[in-house]
Amino acid sequence: MPVCAFCGREIVPGTGRLYVLNSGKTLWFCSKKCRVYYLKRKRKPEKEKWTVAGRKAKERRIALLSAKAKK
Ligand SMILES: [Zn+2]
Repeated sequence: MPVCAFCGREIVPGTGRLYVLNSGKTLWFCSKKCRVYYLKRKRKPEKEKWTVAGRKAKERRIALLSAKAKK
């Protein structure tokens, strides 16, 4: 199953949209929200709370903070 290029969720067959760049790279989007955030607003997935990449970045920040607190 393809994974959304922005939020990282799996895309159910028959839904979502495939976007092909001029370079030939293909991007899958699960929703209009993800498409607009990626193509128009040019946001980084790591900076959004609701994406898989954003949650991982948050976990990394918490791990860093707790490692600092232990010192
Ligand atoms: Zn998505």
